[in-house]
Amino acid sequence: MRPVRFNVHPKQADIKDNIALVEMPDGTTGEGYFATSFESVVGLARKNSMWPLPFATSCCGIEFMATMASHYDLARFGSERVGFSPRQCDLLMVMGTIAKKMAPVLRQVYLQMAEPRWVIAVGACASSGGIFDTYSVLQGIDQVIPVDVYVPGCPPRPEAIIDGVLRIQDLIHAEGLRRRNSDHYKALLGTYGIQ
Ligand code: SF4
Repeated sequence: MRPVRFNVHPKQADIKDNIALVEMPDGTTGEGYFATSFESVVGLARKNSMWPLPFATSCCGIEFMATMASHYDLARFGSERVGFSPRQCDLLMVMGTIAKKMAPVLRQVYLQMAEPRWVIAVGACASSGGIFDTYSVLQGIDQVIPVDVYVPGCPPRPEAIIDGVLRIQDLIHAEGLRRRNSDHYKALLGTYGIQ
């Protein structure tokens, strides 16, 4: 019988080298304590526990699938819990061509999300209509909802999508707790007819 061969020189993975620790916010530290602002703690928690809602209509959605799969593994950034209930998600990821008929649906999904919520336009179609400069295609989702980050590409590679998520994390971390109640933010929503 043919013997079973094992790898006689197994590579010893050093797990410590592969785990990135969350960056500590600014604060004061001493023996046995660390003090920081409430805002920093909330920002830290929010940015590392986003729940994405993928709104995928065409080819860019396939890149998103690759981004979620084991090789790129968006779970490394705390975003593995993909949901399809807008009320339980805080990151709307729009991927693909959005027809004008689809625009009210996209807007409805956005309205159903609770604050604070963020939006990424993934790829040329979601950002600007892409190559579909036609009567039936929305020329960018920012015509109907506010967008926080645009990811270029047709389609963008998973690395680019991850970069977009990292940019969103930067925004979340830096966002003040009261921003959503500010006049500036209300005025921004007002330009979209959202109360
Ligand atoms: S940007 Fe390109 S790859 Fe993405 S949905 Fe549009 S046509 Fe497809």
